[in-house]
Amino acid sequence: MIVVMKTGASEEEIGRVIERIEGEGLSAHVSRGTERTVIGVIGQGVDVHRIAGVLGGMSGVESLVPISKPFKLASREFHPQDTVVEVNGVRIGGEEVVVIGGPCSVESEEQTLATARAVKAAGGKLLRGGAYKPRTSPYSFRGMGVRGLEILARAREETGLGVVTEVMSVEELPVVMEYADMLQIGTRNMQNYALLEAVGRTEMPVLLKRGMSATIEEWLLAAEYIMAQGNRRVVLCERGIRSFDPYTRNVFDVGAIALVKGLSHLPVIGDPSQGTGRASLVVPVSLAAVAAGADGLLVEVHPNPEGAMSDNAQQVTFEGFEELMAGVRRVASAIGRSAAEPAREPQGVSA
Ligand code: PEP
Ligand code: MN
Repeated sequence: MIVVMKTGASEEEIGRVIERIEGEGLSAHVSRGTERTVIGVIGQGVDVHRIAGVLGGMSGVESLVPISKPFKLASREFHPQDTVVEVNGVRIGGEEVVVIGGPCSVESEEQTLATARAVKAAGGKLLRGGAYKPRTSPYSFRGMGVRGLEILARAREETGLGVVTEVMSVEELPVVMEYADMLQIGTRNMQNYALLEAVGRTEMPVLLKRGMSATIEEWLLAAEYIMAQGNRRVVLCERGIRSFDPYTRNVFDVGAIALVKGLSHLPVIGDPSQGTGRASLVVPVSLAAVAAGADGLLVEVHPNPEGAMSDNAQQVTFEGFEELMAGVRRVASAIGRSAAEPAREPQGVSA
């Protein structure tokens, strides 16, 4: 339930309510708005009517509102303000649309460094790249493992871009944490509850992809698994859901972005690369995602997409990424947001 404090409730009154909630063995989560403060109450096995009776009568309390959704910590009812998740100094969920770019997989030091430089030059804020790759076939390239993580760290050292990379299992979590700035949970692991709880026990930012067959409620309940362990630094990522039509790899659910922004206070970003499976669709779908309210994008970029060791049909070239960033800036400004300017003039353009 949520305790709505009166406008102008004093710090003492707020403090007494928190103390009372904690005294009942429950946890209190305070959100301070410009107008009023609300306090979310979470706990298990409590007599809701008795607690409501106790809190409802306290000084400074205006009303009590039950949380109607099965997800609590992730719900907008629980925390009305937008949450901002900071990754290596980059704020996701604020006014700026944050673009995360990089290869699907780390393949070599040259490929990753060249891509990181191009991403940074065009205005990308974080570097993506898989070192542990979930592949449909066990015979496909499954990533460079620790060597891939070392290459990502090397790229961060040179460019300053924070690293977003996937963790596939609880066993790999310690090593991935040594190198990553943000842990990606892939579509296939969205309902790996042991992994969700393990990342929930860390303090690292988590990028939670939507399961390819997950409903929006299942996706938000997956976020709840992480948050219930104490880690509130969750960013949701729409990456498309399965359909019957082979022309696109997935159906990118642009409506889900706008919907989830209303249901949850967590930042939401879009992944048009896995979302469409086609490089030619990455720019238009990126722009649609930003127009729908996405707080950022996760985009696959490769020096030579055709020769990529994974997802070679959907990675954009460096020029493609520059074009994408230019479009994102235009759409962001049309809806009252911003996106980073290029760090320098695009290559091939003379002054
Ligand atoms: C990826 O980002 O390369 C990836 C494997 O994503 P997903 O889990 O969404 O398929
Ligand atoms: Mn990929």
